[in-house]
Amino acid sequence: MEKSGILAQSTTLIDRIKQHRWTIGVAGAASALGMAGAIAVAPADGLPGTRMVVEQLALESAKPVVGSDHVFLREEKIQRGDTVAALLNRLGIQEGEALYFVRTSAQTQALYQQLVPGKVVVAQTTASGDLVALHFPLNGGESALSVERVGGALSAKTVPLRFETHTVMKTAEIRSSLFAATDGAGIPDNVAIQMAEIFGGEIDFHRDLRKGDRFSMVFEMNYLRGQPARSGRILAAEFTNNGKTHRALWFDQEGKGAYYTAEGKSLRKAFLRSPLEFSRVTSGFALRFHPILQQWRAHKGVDYGAPSGTRVRATGDGQIEFAGSQGGYGNVVIIRHSGSHSTAYGHLKGFASGIRKGSRVNQGDTIGYVGQTGWATGPHLHYEFRINNQQVNPLAVNLPTAIPLEGAALARFKTQSAPLLTHLTLLGTANLAALD
Ligand SMILES: [Zn+2]
Repeated sequence: MEKSGILAQSTTLIDRIKQHRWTIGVAGAASALGMAGAIAVAPADGLPGTRMVVEQLALESAKPVVGSDHVFLREEKIQRGDTVAALLNRLGIQEGEALYFVRTSAQTQALYQQLVPGKVVVAQTTASGDLVALHFPLNGGESALSVERVGGALSAKTVPLRFETHTVMKTAEIRSSLFAATDGAGIPDNVAIQMAEIFGGEIDFHRDLRKGDRFSMVFEMNYLRGQPARSGRILAAEFTNNGKTHRALWFDQEGKGAYYTAEGKSLRKAFLRSPLEFSRVTSGFALRFHPILQQWRAHKGVDYGAPSGTRVRATGDGQIEFAGSQGGYGNVVIIRHSGSHSTAYGHLKGFASGIRKGSRVNQGDTIGYVGQTGWATGPHLHYEFRINNQQVNPLAVNLPTAIPLEGAALARFKTQSAPLLTHLTLLGTANLAALD
Protein backbone atom coordinates (compact mmCIF):
# COMPACT_ATOMS: atom_id res chain seq x y z
CA MET A 1 0.00 0.00 0.00
CA GLU A 2 1.30 3.43 -0.91
CA LYS A 3 1.84 5.46 2.22
CA SER A 4 3.69 8.46 0.90
CA GLY A 5 0.57 10.61 0.88
CA ILE A 6 0.11 10.14 4.60
CA LEU A 7 3.77 10.52 5.35
CA ALA A 8 3.99 13.73 3.38
CA GLN A 9 1.32 15.18 5.65
CA SER A 10 3.02 14.12 8.81
CA THR A 11 5.37 16.64 10.27
CA THR A 12 6.84 16.58 13.71
CA LEU A 13 5.24 17.42 16.99
CA ILE A 14 7.39 20.51 17.24
CA ASP A 15 6.34 21.75 13.83
CA ARG A 16 2.73 21.19 14.77
CA ILE A 17 3.05 23.09 17.98
CA LYS A 18 4.78 26.01 16.31
CA GLN A 19 2.09 26.04 13.70
CA HIS A 20 -0.56 25.79 16.38
CA ARG A 21 0.84 28.66 18.42
CA TRP A 22 1.25 30.82 15.40
CA THR A 23 -2.28 30.12 14.33
CA ILE A 24 -3.71 30.98 17.71
CA GLY A 25 -1.69 34.16 17.96
CA VAL A 26 -2.35 35.53 14.50
CA ALA A 27 -5.59 34.15 13.24
CA GLY A 28 -7.41 33.13 16.39
CA ALA A 29 -8.90 29.84 17.41
CA ALA A 30 -11.80 30.03 14.98
CA SER A 31 -9.66 29.83 11.87
CA ALA A 32 -7.48 27.21 13.53
CA LEU A 33 -10.56 25.04 13.72
CA GLY A 34 -11.07 25.69 10.05
CA MET A 35 -7.82 23.90 9.33
CA ALA A 36 -9.50 20.56 9.90
CA GLY A 37 -7.73 17.61 8.42
CA ALA A 38 -4.06 18.27 8.80
CA ILE A 39 -4.45 19.85 12.18
CA ALA A 40 -7.30 20.83 14.39
CA VAL A 41 -6.94 22.94 17.48
CA ALA A 42 -9.65 23.24 20.06
CA PRO A 43 -9.90 24.11 23.73
CA ALA A 44 -9.71 20.95 25.75
CA ASP A 45 -13.13 20.70 27.31
CA GLY A 46 -12.95 19.66 30.92
CA LEU A 47 -9.25 20.51 31.04
CA PRO A 48 -9.11 24.14 32.08
CA GLY A 49 -6.05 26.15 31.16
CA THR A 50 -4.87 23.74 28.52
CA ARG A 51 -5.32 23.52 24.79
CA MET A 52 -5.90 20.44 22.78
CA VAL A 53 -3.68 19.73 19.84
CA VAL A 54 -5.21 17.16 17.60
CA GLU A 55 -2.71 15.90 15.15
CA GLN A 56 -3.02 13.60 12.24
CA LEU A 57 -0.91 10.56 12.76
CA ALA A 58 2.49 9.81 11.48
CA LEU A 59 2.20 6.23 10.30
CA GLU A 60 5.17 3.98 10.32
CA SER A 61 6.03 2.21 7.14
CA ALA A 62 8.01 -1.03 6.93
CA LYS A 63 10.76 0.82 5.09
CA PRO A 64 12.69 3.61 6.78
CA VAL A 65 10.78 6.67 5.77
CA VAL A 66 12.27 9.33 7.98
CA GLY A 67 13.09 12.32 5.84
CA SER A 68 15.83 14.80 6.54
CA ASP A 69 13.28 17.24 7.97
CA HIS A 70 11.99 14.78 10.58
CA VAL A 71 12.81 15.91 14.11
CA PHE A 72 13.23 13.42 16.96
CA LEU A 73 12.42 14.33 20.51
CA ARG A 74 14.40 12.64 23.27
CA GLU A 75 14.27 13.08 27.03
CA GLU A 76 17.03 11.78 29.22
CA LYS A 77 17.40 11.81 32.96
CA ILE A 78 20.93 12.54 34.20
CA GLN A 79 22.29 9.47 35.99
CA ARG A 80 24.73 9.28 38.89
CA GLY A 81 28.28 9.38 37.49
CA ASP A 82 27.07 10.62 34.11
CA THR A 83 29.28 12.59 31.74
CA VAL A 84 28.19 15.28 29.30
CA ALA A 85 29.48 13.12 26.41
CA ALA A 86 27.44 10.09 27.54
CA LEU A 87 24.35 12.24 28.05
CA LEU A 88 24.57 13.82 24.58
CA ASN A 89 25.09 10.37 23.11
CA ARG A 90 21.92 9.05 24.80
CA LEU A 91 20.05 12.10 23.52
CA GLY A 92 20.99 10.98 19.99
CA ILE A 93 23.30 13.92 19.22
CA GLN A 94 25.93 12.66 16.77
CA GLU A 95 26.94 15.90 15.08
CA GLY A 96 30.62 16.86 15.50
CA GLU A 97 29.89 20.57 15.25
CA ALA A 98 27.30 20.43 18.04
CA LEU A 99 29.54 18.38 20.33
CA TYR A 100 32.38 20.84 19.69
CA PHE A 101 30.07 23.78 20.37
CA VAL A 102 28.87 22.35 23.68
CA ARG A 103 32.44 21.57 24.73
CA THR A 104 33.92 24.96 23.86
CA SER A 105 31.22 27.63 24.13
CA ALA A 106 31.40 29.74 27.29
CA GLN A 107 27.61 29.66 27.59
CA THR A 108 27.33 25.88 27.65
CA GLN A 109 29.78 25.25 30.49
CA ALA A 110 26.83 25.07 32.90
CA LEU A 111 26.19 21.63 31.44
CA TYR A 112 29.51 20.44 32.88
CA GLN A 113 29.15 22.29 36.18
CA GLN A 114 25.52 21.38 36.88
CA LEU A 115 25.28 17.76 35.80
CA VAL A 116 22.96 16.90 38.67
CA PRO A 117 21.43 13.37 38.75
CA GLY A 118 17.68 13.41 38.19
CA LYS A 119 17.53 16.49 35.95
CA VAL A 120 15.64 15.89 32.74
CA VAL A 121 17.33 17.12 29.58
CA VAL A 122 15.47 17.33 26.30
CA ALA A 123 16.97 17.36 22.82
CA GLN A 124 15.56 17.60 19.35
CA THR A 125 17.70 16.10 16.64
CA THR A 126 17.41 15.24 12.98
CA ALA A 127 17.43 11.61 11.87
CA SER A 128 21.18 11.81 11.28
CA GLY A 129 21.84 13.16 14.79
CA ASP A 130 22.23 16.86 14.01
CA LEU A 131 21.22 19.04 16.93
CA VAL A 132 18.11 21.14 16.44
CA ALA A 133 17.57 22.25 20.03
CA LEU A 134 18.72 21.30 23.51
CA HIS A 135 17.07 22.22 26.77
CA PHE A 136 18.97 21.90 30.05
CA PRO A 137 17.39 23.06 33.36
CA LEU A 138 19.80 25.12 35.44
CA ASN A 139 20.24 24.71 39.19
CA GLY A 140 17.70 26.61 41.28
CA GLY A 141 14.80 25.69 39.02
CA GLU A 142 14.31 29.24 37.74
CA SER A 143 15.96 29.09 34.36
CA ALA A 144 17.28 26.79 31.68
CA LEU A 145 20.12 26.70 29.20
CA SER A 146 18.75 26.61 25.68
CA VAL A 147 20.93 25.64 22.73
CA GLU A 148 19.34 26.27 19.36
CA ARG A 149 20.28 26.41 15.74
CA VAL A 150 19.47 29.88 14.46
CA GLY A 151 20.08 30.53 10.78
CA GLY A 152 22.35 27.52 10.50
CA ALA A 153 24.57 28.48 13.46
CA LEU A 154 24.34 27.14 16.99
CA SER A 155 23.79 29.57 19.81
CA ALA A 156 23.19 29.20 23.53
CA LYS A 157 21.35 31.39 25.97
CA THR A 158 19.73 31.30 29.38
CA VAL A 159 15.96 31.43 29.32
CA PRO A 160 13.52 31.79 32.22
CA LEU A 161 11.62 28.64 33.12
CA ARG A 162 7.99 29.38 32.49
CA PHE A 163 6.19 26.27 31.46
CA GLU A 164 3.04 26.15 29.46
CA THR A 165 1.21 22.87 29.74
CA HIS A 166 -0.45 21.62 26.60
CA THR A 167 -2.52 18.53 26.26
CA VAL A 168 -1.24 16.57 23.31
CA MET A 169 -3.04 13.81 21.46
CA LYS A 170 -1.19 11.19 19.48
CA THR A 171 -2.01 8.04 17.66
CA ALA A 172 0.15 5.50 15.87
CA GLU A 173 0.25 1.98 14.57
CA ILE A 174 2.97 -0.55 15.28
CA ARG A 175 4.69 -1.73 12.12
CA SER A 176 8.03 -2.89 13.48
CA SER A 177 8.40 -1.96 17.14
CA LEU A 178 6.73 0.16 19.77
CA PHE A 179 9.58 2.67 19.81
CA ALA A 180 9.65 2.93 16.01
CA ALA A 181 5.96 3.85 16.23
CA THR A 182 6.40 6.33 19.09
CA ASP A 183 9.43 7.91 17.38
CA GLY A 184 7.42 8.29 14.21
CA ALA A 185 4.61 9.98 16.10
CA GLY A 186 6.94 12.23 18.11
CA ILE A 187 6.09 10.64 21.45
CA PRO A 188 8.88 10.93 24.06
CA ASP A 189 10.27 7.70 25.53
CA ASN A 190 9.01 8.62 29.00
CA VAL A 191 5.46 8.67 27.68
CA ALA A 192 5.92 5.39 25.79
CA ILE A 193 7.22 3.74 28.98
CA GLN A 194 4.37 5.26 31.00
CA MET A 195 1.95 3.65 28.56
CA ALA A 196 3.66 0.27 28.97
CA GLU A 197 3.37 0.64 32.76
CA ILE A 198 -0.29 1.67 32.66
CA PHE A 199 -1.20 -1.43 30.64
CA GLY A 200 1.39 -3.61 32.41
CA GLY A 201 -1.32 -5.74 34.04
CA GLU A 202 -3.05 -6.37 30.71
CA ILE A 203 -0.33 -6.58 28.10
CA ASP A 204 3.16 -8.06 28.17
CA PHE A 205 4.98 -5.37 26.19
CA HIS A 206 7.95 -7.68 25.68
CA ARG A 207 6.03 -10.52 24.09
CA ASP A 208 2.45 -9.64 23.18
CA LEU A 209 2.93 -6.81 20.68
CA ARG A 210 1.81 -7.51 17.12
CA LYS A 211 2.27 -5.73 13.84
CA GLY A 212 -0.92 -3.73 13.35
CA ASP A 213 -1.45 -3.02 17.07
CA ARG A 214 -2.61 0.57 17.49
CA PHE A 215 -2.58 3.06 20.28
CA SER A 216 -3.88 6.55 20.97
CA MET A 217 -3.13 8.74 23.91
CA VAL A 218 -3.81 12.08 25.50
CA PHE A 219 -0.92 13.34 27.59
CA GLU A 220 0.41 16.53 29.11
CA MET A 221 3.48 18.17 27.69
CA ASN A 222 5.25 21.13 29.24
CA TYR A 223 6.51 23.73 26.82
CA LEU A 224 9.05 26.42 27.30
CA ARG A 225 9.03 29.24 24.77
CA GLY A 226 7.32 27.00 22.28
CA GLN A 227 9.77 24.15 22.73
CA PRO A 228 8.85 20.85 24.38
CA ALA A 229 10.70 20.84 27.68
CA ARG A 230 9.33 17.90 29.61
CA SER A 231 6.60 15.34 29.20
CA GLY A 232 3.90 14.99 31.80
CA ARG A 233 1.28 12.45 32.68
CA ILE A 234 -0.80 10.37 30.34
CA LEU A 235 -4.43 11.37 30.98
CA ALA A 236 -6.03 8.78 28.74
CA ALA A 237 -4.79 5.98 26.55
CA GLU A 238 -6.17 3.29 24.33
CA PHE A 239 -4.21 0.27 23.15
CA THR A 240 -5.50 -2.27 20.68
CA ASN A 241 -3.39 -5.39 21.05
CA ASN A 242 -4.02 -8.40 18.87
CA GLY A 243 -7.56 -7.15 18.17
CA LYS A 244 -8.45 -6.45 21.80
CA THR A 245 -8.88 -2.82 22.87
CA HIS A 246 -7.79 -1.69 26.34
CA ARG A 247 -8.51 1.76 27.69
CA ALA A 248 -7.07 3.68 30.60
CA LEU A 249 -8.26 6.93 32.14
CA TRP A 250 -6.47 8.86 34.85
CA PHE A 251 -8.64 9.69 37.86
CA ASP A 252 -7.40 11.74 40.77
CA GLN A 253 -9.11 11.34 44.14
CA GLU A 254 -7.83 13.89 46.64
CA GLY A 255 -4.26 13.65 45.42
CA LYS A 256 -4.29 9.88 45.03
CA GLY A 257 -4.61 9.15 41.34
CA ALA A 258 -4.81 5.91 39.43
CA TYR A 259 -5.85 4.54 36.06
CA TYR A 260 -9.23 2.99 35.43
CA THR A 261 -11.08 1.43 32.54
CA ALA A 262 -13.99 3.38 31.05
CA GLU A 263 -16.26 1.33 33.36
CA GLY A 264 -14.32 2.41 36.45
CA LYS A 265 -12.40 -0.80 37.06
CA SER A 266 -8.87 -0.34 38.35
CA LEU A 267 -6.11 -1.16 35.87
CA ARG A 268 -3.84 -2.17 38.70
CA LYS A 269 -3.78 -5.95 38.65
CA ALA A 270 -2.50 -8.41 41.22
CA PHE A 271 0.29 -9.32 38.77
CA LEU A 272 2.25 -7.55 36.07
CA ARG A 273 2.30 -9.40 32.76
CA SER A 274 6.05 -8.97 32.33
CA PRO A 275 8.76 -9.37 34.98
CA LEU A 276 11.21 -7.25 32.98
CA GLU A 277 11.55 -3.51 33.19
CA PHE A 278 10.46 -1.97 29.91
CA SER A 279 12.89 0.23 28.03
CA ARG A 280 14.11 1.02 24.53
CA VAL A 281 16.83 -1.60 25.01
CA THR A 282 14.71 -4.47 26.34
CA SER A 283 11.85 -3.84 23.89
CA GLY A 284 13.86 -4.99 20.88
CA PHE A 285 16.13 -7.50 22.54
CA ALA A 286 13.48 -10.10 23.35
CA LEU A 287 12.62 -10.59 19.71
CA ARG A 288 16.07 -11.92 18.91
CA PHE A 289 15.56 -14.80 21.36
CA HIS A 290 11.99 -15.38 20.44
CA PRO A 291 12.08 -18.43 18.16
CA ILE A 292 14.40 -20.58 20.27
CA LEU A 293 13.50 -19.83 23.82
CA GLN A 294 9.83 -19.08 23.98
CA GLN A 295 8.49 -22.65 23.85
CA TRP A 296 6.49 -22.57 27.06
CA ARG A 297 5.32 -26.17 26.92
CA ALA A 298 8.85 -27.47 26.58
CA HIS A 299 10.05 -26.25 29.94
CA LYS A 300 7.13 -24.78 31.91
CA GLY A 301 8.35 -21.25 31.95
CA VAL A 302 8.58 -18.13 29.86
CA ASP A 303 11.97 -16.86 28.73
CA TYR A 304 12.78 -13.22 28.19
CA GLY A 305 15.95 -12.41 26.30
CA ALA A 306 17.46 -9.24 27.74
CA PRO A 307 20.88 -7.70 28.15
CA SER A 308 22.79 -8.89 31.19
CA GLY A 309 22.07 -6.55 34.10
CA THR A 310 18.53 -5.60 33.05
CA ARG A 311 16.35 -5.06 36.11
CA VAL A 312 13.93 -7.86 37.02
CA ARG A 313 10.74 -6.83 38.84
CA ALA A 314 8.48 -8.65 41.26
CA THR A 315 5.28 -9.16 39.26
CA GLY A 316 3.13 -9.05 42.41
CA ASP A 317 3.23 -8.17 46.12
CA GLY A 318 4.57 -10.98 48.26
CA GLN A 319 7.26 -12.46 50.46
CA ILE A 320 10.58 -13.94 49.31
CA GLU A 321 10.45 -17.70 49.79
CA PHE A 322 13.84 -18.39 48.29
CA ALA A 323 16.78 -16.33 47.03
CA GLY A 324 19.88 -18.31 46.16
CA SER A 325 21.31 -20.87 43.77
CA GLN A 326 19.27 -23.89 42.72
CA GLY A 327 20.53 -26.32 40.00
CA GLY A 328 19.59 -25.44 36.44
CA TYR A 329 17.83 -22.26 37.58
CA GLY A 330 21.13 -20.76 38.67
CA ASN A 331 20.48 -17.77 40.90
CA VAL A 332 16.75 -17.78 41.46
CA VAL A 333 14.21 -15.77 43.43
CA ILE A 334 10.91 -17.37 44.39
CA ILE A 335 8.15 -15.12 45.68
CA ARG A 336 5.13 -16.40 47.62
CA HIS A 337 2.05 -14.27 46.89
CA SER A 338 -1.34 -14.31 48.57
CA GLY A 339 -3.44 -17.40 48.02
CA SER A 340 -1.77 -20.27 46.25
CA HIS A 341 0.27 -18.16 43.81
CA SER A 342 4.04 -18.02 43.58
CA THR A 343 6.47 -16.75 40.96
CA ALA A 344 10.07 -17.74 40.14
CA TYR A 345 12.81 -15.77 38.38
CA GLY A 346 15.83 -17.76 37.20
CA HIS A 347 19.34 -17.40 35.69
CA LEU A 348 19.87 -14.11 37.59
CA LYS A 349 23.26 -12.45 37.56
CA GLY A 350 22.65 -11.24 41.09
CA PHE A 351 20.05 -10.15 43.62
CA ALA A 352 18.90 -6.64 44.45
CA SER A 353 19.89 -5.40 47.90
CA GLY A 354 17.58 -6.56 50.68
CA ILE A 355 16.32 -9.55 48.71
CA ARG A 356 16.58 -12.53 51.05
CA LYS A 357 14.28 -15.21 52.44
CA GLY A 358 11.43 -13.64 54.40
CA SER A 359 11.69 -10.09 53.03
CA ARG A 360 8.56 -8.47 51.64
CA VAL A 361 8.36 -7.02 48.15
CA ASN A 362 5.83 -4.89 46.33
CA GLN A 363 4.77 -5.24 42.75
CA GLY A 364 7.34 -3.59 40.48
CA ASP A 365 10.20 -3.71 43.03
CA THR A 366 13.56 -4.70 41.56
CA ILE A 367 14.50 -8.14 42.90
CA GLY A 368 17.53 -8.97 40.76
CA TYR A 369 19.31 -8.62 37.43
CA VAL A 370 19.22 -10.63 34.23
CA GLY A 371 22.15 -13.01 33.84
CA GLN A 372 22.93 -16.50 32.57
CA THR A 373 23.65 -18.53 35.70
CA GLY A 374 22.55 -22.18 35.73
CA TRP A 375 21.60 -23.89 32.48
CA ALA A 376 21.45 -20.89 30.19
CA THR A 377 23.08 -20.42 26.83
CA GLY A 378 22.73 -16.65 26.79
CA PRO A 379 21.56 -13.86 29.09
CA HIS A 380 17.85 -14.26 29.68
CA LEU A 381 15.27 -14.40 32.41
CA HIS A 382 13.39 -17.62 33.05
CA TYR A 383 10.03 -16.76 34.60
CA GLU A 384 7.52 -19.16 36.11
CA PHE A 385 4.05 -18.56 37.42
CA ARG A 386 2.92 -21.28 39.82
CA ILE A 387 -0.45 -22.15 41.31
CA ASN A 388 -0.24 -24.69 44.15
CA ASN A 389 3.42 -25.10 43.19
CA GLN A 390 2.47 -26.20 39.67
CA GLN A 391 3.80 -24.14 36.76
CA VAL A 392 1.08 -22.59 34.64
CA ASN A 393 1.34 -20.42 31.56
CA PRO A 394 1.20 -16.87 32.99
CA LEU A 395 -0.02 -15.54 29.67
CA ALA A 396 -3.12 -17.72 29.90
CA VAL A 397 -4.06 -17.14 33.56
CA ASN A 398 -7.02 -14.96 34.48
CA LEU A 399 -5.91 -12.95 37.44
CA PRO A 400 -7.92 -11.35 40.22
CA THR A 401 -8.54 -7.61 39.82
CA ALA A 402 -8.78 -4.79 42.31
CA ILE A 403 -12.02 -3.30 43.68
CA PRO A 404 -13.80 -1.06 41.11
CA LEU A 405 -14.94 2.52 41.73
CA GLU A 406 -18.41 2.74 43.25
CA GLY A 407 -21.16 5.23 44.15
CA ALA A 408 -20.23 8.92 44.21
CA ALA A 409 -16.62 8.25 43.16
CA LEU A 410 -17.81 6.34 40.12
CA ALA A 411 -20.21 9.15 39.19
CA ARG A 412 -17.43 11.74 39.52
CA PHE A 413 -15.10 9.55 37.47
CA LYS A 414 -17.69 9.19 34.70
CA THR A 415 -18.20 12.96 34.53
CA GLN A 416 -14.48 13.72 34.52
CA SER A 417 -13.52 11.05 32.04
CA ALA A 418 -16.27 11.71 29.48
CA PRO A 419 -14.33 14.37 27.52
CA LEU A 420 -11.19 12.21 27.53
CA LEU A 421 -13.16 9.27 26.18
CA THR A 422 -14.52 11.50 23.44
CA HIS A 423 -10.97 12.45 22.47
CA LEU A 424 -9.84 8.84 22.41
CA THR A 425 -12.74 7.97 20.14
CA LEU A 426 -11.88 10.93 17.94
CA LEU A 427 -8.29 9.75 17.67
CA GLY A 428 -9.41 6.23 16.81
CA THR A 429 -11.53 7.63 14.02
CA ALA A 430 -8.69 9.83 12.74
CA ASN A 431 -6.52 6.75 12.63
CA LEU A 432 -9.03 4.81 10.55
CA ALA A 433 -9.54 7.76 8.21
CA ALA A 434 -5.82 8.02 7.55
CA LEU A 435 -5.51 4.30 6.91
CA ASP A 436 -8.06 4.39 4.09
ZN1 LIG B 1 13.51 -20.92 30.61
